[in-house]
Amino acid sequence: MEITKQVASQDELPKTDTATDPDAEVYMNFMKKHCCYDAMPTSCKLVIFDTTLQVKKAFFALVANGLRAAPLWDNKLQRFVGMLTITDFINILHRYYTSPLVQIYELEEHKIETWRGDSSQNVCLQGCNRCLISITPDASLFDAIFSLLKHKIHRLPVIDPKSGSVLHILTHKRILKFLHIFGAMIPKPQFLQKTMEEVGIGTFKDIATVQDTATLYDALSVFVERRVSALPVVDSKGKVVALYSRFDVINLAAQKSYNNLNMTMREAVRRRTCFIEGVIKCHGHETLETVIDRIVKAEVHRLVLVDREDVVKGIISLSDLLQAMVLTPAGIDALFS
Ligand code: ADP
Ligand code: ADP
Ligand code: AMP
Repeated sequence: MEITKQVASQDELPKTDTATDPDAEVYMNFMKKHCCYDAMPTSCKLVIFDTTLQVKKAFFALVANGLRAAPLWDNKLQRFVGMLTITDFINILHRYYTSPLVQIYELEEHKIETWRGDSSQNVCLQGCNRCLISITPDASLFDAIFSLLKHKIHRLPVIDPKSGSVLHILTHKRILKFLHIFGAMIPKPQFLQKTMEEVGIGTFKDIATVQDTATLYDALSVFVERRVSALPVVDSKGKVVALYSRFDVINLAAQKSYNNLNMTMREAVRRRTCFIEGVIKCHGHETLETVIDRIVKAEVHRLVLVDREDVVKGIISLSDLLQAMVLTPAGIDALFS
């Protein structure tokens, strides 16, 4: 389905606030003043899956359409009942994989509804994942960020309340990019010049990593148990040699190699077809502004903070940036609650 957004005239384009807000609240106010519709692209591709579709076909359809997620439509209930994301693919592989010699029956045969209704797989569908979390186009971007971070999800469908249609799927990336483009019109807050060490934005303890000699199944176990969105791949000295994100797991569907989860991470990294060369990193002495520029330009969900020897010291994710710049000034701690 091709979704086309009406192009706003110059007057309708997001307006930025020229008032001199206290520095800390600049981005919070920006997000409160702009709505989800403002951050939507003029046109985008959207695929919706009926819950009677076979699980395997659904993941192949994501690959074929170059998409990361799709809303799920229940025809009997006549409403959207959830999302299908790469995390669901990971959960299925991790739960039902036994060996390279045995086909994953649940992936080959199950329909989405059978899999979602399987009460023995509570690991896969927990709490809010049993219903759709969505937002309306006129809700503020502040509310969208709050919802993404509070529910710890990465895909937020924007649904038109009148027609019930999904208009777009908002992500942290899209929101930060919008801020980067339109936020350029507002005076730069001073704190952007502080170093990452000074602002302390990110996660610096218990970083989930995976050895390059570990198996892909080991990596999937970490994704499932720690619920992190990516793993720095490290060598025996703890130096980061690659970045393997949940997104990269879709390569297994693209290459139909999901029956071999015994391959090493070195092999899994090498086999990726669509990936970014090298690891996008940052250092503690770099400024917040430099880090934001880098993460937006590279179009990645996180940077790996390393020391001089390339040893992993932290993760700076878009969730951390949005929490610190938008929610913390409002006194909300959605990420760590
Ligand atoms: P990914 O990073 O792989 O795209 P998410 O972190 O968004 O995945 O998804 C985590 C879990 O939450 C998955 O089981 C997914 O189906 C579910 N999920 C994601 N977005 C929503 C949503 N808007 N409403 C309900 N469930 C969702
Ligand atoms: P998503 O759009 O689903 O959030 P990600 O940003 O996690 O996806 O990943 C998209 C691609 O970018 C993946 O191939 C992943 O390996 C790569 N990638 C993400 N972060 C980094 C990074 N810091 N360094 C190198 N590659 C990265
Ligand atoms: P994300 O899922 O990337 O949006 O991030 C949610 C939170 O998890 C943020 O605080 C990140 O810093 C943190 N995080 C992301 N990846 C890792 C990881 N590999 N190890 C530890 N924390 C992580």
